[in-house]
Amino acid sequence: MAGNIKKANPPNESALKKRVKSLIKNLDEFYPVFKPKKRYDPLDELVLTILSQNTNDNNSFEGYKRLKSRFPTWDKVARANPNTIEKAISIAGLAPTKTKYIKGVLDGIGADNQAKNRLEKGSPYHLNHLKEMTLEKSLDYLTSFKGVGQKTAACVLAFSLDMPSFPIDTHVRRILVRHGIIPANMTAENAHHVMYRLTIPDERYRFHMSLIRYGRDICHARNPECDKCVIKRNCEY
Ligand code: SF4
Repeated sequence: MAGNIKKANPPNESALKKRVKSLIKNLDEFYPVFKPKKRYDPLDELVLTILSQNTNDNNSFEGYKRLKSRFPTWDKVARANPNTIEKAISIAGLAPTKTKYIKGVLDGIGADNQAKNRLEKGSPYHLNHLKEMTLEKSLDYLTSFKGVGQKTAACVLAFSLDMPSFPIDTHVRRILVRHGIIPANMTAENAHHVMYRLTIPDERYRFHMSLIRYGRDICHARNPECDKCVIKRNCEY
């Protein structure tokens, strides 16, 4: 929930950049130790992130573990009956939809890699070619698949490939809205584009991780702990 945002004239781009810089500085001081996420293969991260849509981390990770245990390779998932995949990932919720997304992604990546003769140990099911692409081209490639939005694509690029993407999840969005950096009604796609303009590549991963921690620790969706807040200066909540 974005909460009660006071009405004010929207800040200009340079003022917004200053707000972002101030947020980054305060959060870096609050969380002096940066904890990056565990790194997975890019295709694994993509499937994990699809499984995480509309559920919590525990359930999505359990769905991923069960899928990998039932089908040890992506070749096997690609050839599997959708009902079997649905059963394996049912704990992550929305299993029929997520199965369609996963199958669609594997079919698309597999066909593209086959056509371009990009096999890894004989398999066309991988995303290693993204390493050779720019951030923009990689985002376009991943978001061309159904079920893969800007956030999902940005997660894969940031967490598995060290690319300077900036995933905007629910915690990140809530804090940016409360700080007047993006409007509450902005689409996910536009919010990502705005944040690419307002941040520099080297700061994005840590900023993303700090916002998630802060959203969980202090700036909750309901009853944020404003009395303990270290970033209240520009907060409009
Ligand atoms: S003051 Fe801090 S904790 Fe409260 S809503 Fe604003 S950012 Fe969140």
